[in-house]
Amino acid sequence: MKLAEFTDKHIAFREEVREFARKELLEESTQIERKGEFPWHIINKIKERGWLGVNFPEEYGGLGLDTTSYIILVEEIARVCASTAIMIAAHVSLACQPIYVHGTEEQKEKYLITLARGEKIGSFGLTEPNAGSDAGGTETTAEFVGDKWLINGSKRFITNGTIADLIVFTATQDRTKKTHGISAFIVEKGTKGFEPGKEEDKLGLRGSITSELHFEDCKLPRENLLGKEYEGFKVFMETLDGGRISIGVLALGIAQGALDYGIKYVREHSVNGKPLYKYQWVQKIISDAATEIMAARHLIYHAAMLKDRGAESVTEEGAMAKLFASEVSTRVCSKIHSIFGKDGVTRKYPLERFLRDTKLMEIGEGTSEIQRIVISRQILGR
Ligand SMILES: Cc1cc2nc3c(=O)[nH]c(=O)nc-3n(C[C@H](O)[C@H](O)[C@H](O)COP(=O)(O)OP(=O)(O)OC[C@H]3O[C@@H](n4cnc5c(N)ncnc54)[C@H](O)[C@@H]3O)c2cc1C
Repeated sequence: MKLAEFTDKHIAFREEVREFARKELLEESTQIERKGEFPWHIINKIKERGWLGVNFPEEYGGLGLDTTSYIILVEEIARVCASTAIMIAAHVSLACQPIYVHGTEEQKEKYLITLARGEKIGSFGLTEPNAGSDAGGTETTAEFVGDKWLINGSKRFITNGTIADLIVFTATQDRTKKTHGISAFIVEKGTKGFEPGKEEDKLGLRGSITSELHFEDCKLPRENLLGKEYEGFKVFMETLDGGRISIGVLALGIAQGALDYGIKYVREHSVNGKPLYKYQWVQKIISDAATEIMAARHLIYHAAMLKDRGAESVTEEGAMAKLFASEVSTRVCSKIHSIFGKDGVTRKYPLERFLRDTKLMEIGEGTSEIQRIVISRQILGR
């Protein structure tokens, strides 16, 4: 399947990533998830190809490709291994992107180049024990004392948390101001007073790392403020507008991966002596899944291509793409899973993994309820 607006360069890039995913990742993907170990050997191969900075300019260590290429990368990787795909998505769209857009020239030189080259791994810390959907409830504090920022508090559920060399995070300078009191900062691994914490034992994406982060009287230099004081919430919401396209395409990749296995299975298996693919109910599941996946793909690539054309905002399009694709993916994985009968509940086929992985897509970077709030605000106003 190809989108009418893909250029020859996009198609060639997709073939390159697809080939890599088939050769390097397909066989490993089950083990990556089952062992629950972060796949450094795969990430190193991805890094060697420059894909950890795929859409950033070459002067900042990137490959100089566009957002659409980055989205292609995440789709093709997620189709085979969603745990690997979310690591890339968090690094590229949540850590590199805000530094690229809001960082000073010095911050880009110091941080973005090594991140985009994949020499360092990035992460994004917004969620807290008491601040999930309502990020305005951020309790981590930042005070400017002497000539340093003094940070105290904790973050939760942070992708790449324990392996990240650098984390872009939020802290409040004035809780009474809620979202308007929040600023964004950069902390490097090894900074005194900063420690990654416990890793989560998750339902899905078990090969990816999700952890706590703790700050206790952590002192950061003045220049580690990202963007302007009190504008951190804006920085993070803008970052999430793009990040939601990433989660949408991750969900899309999972759905396509489930469909790939479904098609293979119905071609190779029979029930009551009749090949599964000849049953009308199976044809309905496969054709509905393919149609919904294609609709999700259009929404996602539409949002990505708008970004490439310099759209000022993709808030509505990103939220629509994420909402629709994540719900399609859960539906597709569940329906395809049902074709497998008892085989679906064993670990012989990766369908049970796809089903577990996709459920997380409806939660990360804003739940479906939150996407509906974002979309309705765009349409109806606040
Ligand atoms: C795989 C994964 C990776 C993640 N990675 C990161 C990361 O890298 N960095 C990071 O900062 N965070 C990360 N998160 C956290 C994620 O962003 C939060 O889980 C998400 O924002 C939801 O917050 P919550 O889980 O605290 O749910 P809550 O906010 O507690 O919501 C609980 C329920 O209430 C509903 N709800 C909440 N508010 C409203 C409302 N106003 N109206 C209607 N319904 C509402 C929600 O939809 C949900 O059903 C990740 C999460 C997952 C699952």
